[in-house]
Amino acid sequence: MPTSKQHASNQTADQARTTAFATRLIHAGGTTDPVTGAVNVPIYQTSTYQQDGVGQDRGWEYSRTGNPTRAALERLIADLEGGVAGFAFGSGMAAITAVLSLLSAGDEVIIPTNVYGGTYRVLNQVFNRFGLTFRVVDTTDPANVEAAIGPNTAATLVESPANPLMTVTDLAEVSRIAHEHGLLSIVDNTFMTPYLQRPLELGADIVVHSATKYLGGHSDVVAGLAVVASQELADRLAFVQNATGGVLGPFDSFLLIRGIKTLGVRMDRHLKNAGVIARALQQNDAVAKVYYPGLPDFPGYEVNRRQASGAGAMLSFELASGYDAHAFLASTRLVALAESLGGVESLVCHPATMTHAAIPKEERDRVGITDGLIRLSVGIEDADDILADINQAIAAAKEA
Ligand SMILES: *Cc1c(COP(=O)(O)O)cnc(C)c1O
Repeated sequence: MPTSKQHASNQTADQARTTAFATRLIHAGGTTDPVTGAVNVPIYQTSTYQQDGVGQDRGWEYSRTGNPTRAALERLIADLEGGVAGFAFGSGMAAITAVLSLLSAGDEVIIPTNVYGGTYRVLNQVFNRFGLTFRVVDTTDPANVEAAIGPNTAATLVESPANPLMTVTDLAEVSRIAHEHGLLSIVDNTFMTPYLQRPLELGADIVVHSATKYLGGHSDVVAGLAVVASQELADRLAFVQNATGGVLGPFDSFLLIRGIKTLGVRMDRHLKNAGVIARALQQNDAVAKVYYPGLPDFPGYEVNRRQASGAGAMLSFELASGYDAHAFLASTRLVALAESLGGVESLVCHPATMTHAAIPKEERDRVGITDGLIRLSVGIEDADDILADINQAIAAAKEA
C-alpha cells in the first residue's frame, strides 16, 4: 500500500489542511528532500530499489507500485482535494480508466450529455465489451439523474462545468442522490481544479483530473490524477493502479508538482481574463451567444457560484449570422488553433469538427454544438492582447 510506505512528509495531512490553500499548493506534498534538504522533491528516476535483505526493503520495491517523486505528487493532490489518498496516472484517460475499473460487468454508469469525448469513447468502445454499460443523462437537472437510476446503476460520473456548452451540474445534489441509492459519486474536476471547486467536500467519493490541463498548466505534460474520500476506496484503487499499471513517470510527476505550485496565481489571472473576454463578447453585435458560467444571466450561474469560488476560464461563443466561424478560426494570430486547454497560452478550437466530431451532426445541433460554435481556453497573457486578437479575427470573419 503506497500510503504505508511513503517517506515521512514534513507535515501531517491534518496539519496541512489547516493551512491556507495558496500555501498548501506549494508545501502540501511535503516535498523537501529528507536526505539533502533540497527544496524540491528529487526526480527518483529508478524502476527498482535495492533491498537490505530478503523481505527487508526500505519502503520502496518497484516503481509501478510506488515511486518517491510520484508519491509526493499523490500526497499533494490528496491534500488539495481534501481526500484520503491520491493516485497519479499517465493521462487523464488512464485515471478515468482505473476508476471505472473499480466497477464490474453488469454495472451501469450515469454520465452527462456534455461528457468529455474520451470518457464517452472508453465506455462506448472499450468497457462495453466487458459488460459495463452507461446511460447518458442531462445532469443539469438532478431530477433526471434520480429518474435514470435502475437496478444495475452503480455510479454517477459527472463534470461541472462540462464542455463545450459549459453546462453546470449541482455536484452536492447529484452526490446526495447517488448515496441515497447506494451509488458511487465520481466527479471529473479538470475544468475547475481544487483551487476553485472541491467535489469531495460536496459529497463526492472520487475526484478525477486530466492534470494535462490547469494542474500542469503549461501544455508540457500529459497526466491524470484521482483522489478518493475513504480508506476502503484508497485500498481498492491502489490495487487497481498497481495491477493495471497506468502510472505517471517520475519526471512527469516532478513537472506536475512544479506546475501545481503556481496554480493559484495562474488561476487568478485566468479568471480575470476570462471575465474580461466573456463580457466583451457578450457586448459584441457580431456574437450571438456566449456560454460562460461567470455571466449572471447564464443558466448555471447560481449553482456554480454556490459550489465553486470562480467560473473557470473556458468559454464558448457563437458568431452572429453574417460571420463565418471557419474564417474566424483561420484568422487568429496570438490565440492558437489547438485541442486541449488550461495552459498559460490562449487556445481556440472548433468543437463541431475537432473535440466533438464523433457526435453525429443532428445530435450536435440538437444539444447546441452548432457549426458556428467556437471554444476558447483563455490563457494568462495580457487580456487586452487576447481581446484585440479576437476582435481582429471577428472582423476578418465578416461575410462580404
Ligand atoms: C482532457 C480531458 C480528459 C482526458 O485527459 P487526458 O489527459 O487527455 O487523457 C478528461 N476529462 C476532461 C474534462 C478533459 O478535459
